[in-house]
Amino acid sequence: MFHDPVETAPREAIRQLQLERLQTTLNRAYFNVDFYRRRMDELQLLPEDVASFRDLRRFPFTTREDLVDHYPYGLFAVPLRSVVRLKTTAHMLQRGQTRPIVVGFTRHDVTMWQSLMVRLYEQIGITDRDIVQVAFNFSLFPGAFTFNHAAEAIGATLAPSATISATLQLQIMQDFRSTVLATTAAFALHIVETMERCRTSPASLHLRHILIGPDPLPEATRRRLESMFGVPVYGLYGVTEMVEPGMAGECPSRQGLHLAEDQFLAEIVHPTTGEVLKPGQEGELVLTTLTAEGYPLIRYRTGDVTVLHDAPCPCGRTLARIAPILRRTDSRISIRGIPLYPENVEELLKAVDPDLDDFRIVIHTCFGIGEHMDLLIARRPGQDYPNGSRTSYLELVRSHVRRVLGIGARIQIVEPERLPQEGLIHKTVFRSEVSDYGIF
Ligand SMILES: [Zn+2]
Repeated sequence: MFHDPVETAPREAIRQLQLERLQTTLNRAYFNVDFYRRRMDELQLLPEDVASFRDLRRFPFTTREDLVDHYPYGLFAVPLRSVVRLKTTAHMLQRGQTRPIVVGFTRHDVTMWQSLMVRLYEQIGITDRDIVQVAFNFSLFPGAFTFNHAAEAIGATLAPSATISATLQLQIMQDFRSTVLATTAAFALHIVETMERCRTSPASLHLRHILIGPDPLPEATRRRLESMFGVPVYGLYGVTEMVEPGMAGECPSRQGLHLAEDQFLAEIVHPTTGEVLKPGQEGELVLTTLTAEGYPLIRYRTGDVTVLHDAPCPCGRTLARIAPILRRTDSRISIRGIPLYPENVEELLKAVDPDLDDFRIVIHTCFGIGEHMDLLIARRPGQDYPNGSRTSYLELVRSHVRRVLGIGARIQIVEPERLPQEGLIHKTVFRSEVSDYGIF
């Protein structure tokens, strides 16, 4: 029933293991990463000064900006020849225009990552008798491959997986009798709509479990999916800059997501003051890698707001649980599981149109497409276009957005006063089912 003894170990044993691994991590960072050595030297701290978790609070946080500033290899703790996999969170980013991050994994790191995913599969009862269907956009979400590798590692059967339509996914589910579906919340809902439209009976499927990631699983979505499919739907958690998916996941008790505390040390801090909060208090999740060789991170601010619970779970596991992510501390949004910062969108629009006045990002869930993005660009009627005609302007923006973000968008020109208003925020992001903006 349990993949690793650590899952049910006494809390004191888990904490002791964490402390030992923390000291190893601090040593690795100090002796192999200039950035961390300089920081520790400035604070006159040595790795051996950390004898307790409280001592760790003397270390500053590592932020996304630190990762960006040391692109590409500045935070690597091993020579490149020891790195077997590079992951960039910047499929959306181009050098000089936006802000990329690259993370490196050694063979050990990749094995650890895969074993965590196996642990999450076994946690919800996936076995070698299951047929796993992985429905993600593999080019935009490389973490999707981990679902495949883990399925094969436990001896389950991997159904043909690809970036294909909901109709074809349903056909594969029926023909191959898939028992597990792993996909995004938006695509799962899209499959439900497709079933309703095509009058596909859930009884024609053989599903036993649905896994939703990498974005948080909204409770309303869970209810909708469970009422349609009649099977449990589980959420997952990961951090794009570290391990995603595999870092945490729900168990059958579904009272939070068990965190792989043998690999990651979690703190919850006040998003503004950085003060460390107690279990049960809501705050920003801060993570320290405990075994990562290639890219150790100390006190990394994830930007995810959650609550940590360290009481034992009814399932028998003692690994602490995080609540499903409540919100972000920054402006990050996500489309089809792909993280996106409105600031980046603004930068890339300004590269085409330096006089850009205002814009909005609208994410729709549309039948036949799933989630898609509209970019509404404010222009006054009669205003000149930077490169001549309206048509060539639209084409230029469209192709630039697709090239940089890797995601297509519908570009629409809207009078400034017709832009949807949401508070006084310059760049508003909201979800909408309608698209009447008075486009001209
Ligand atoms: Zn549990």
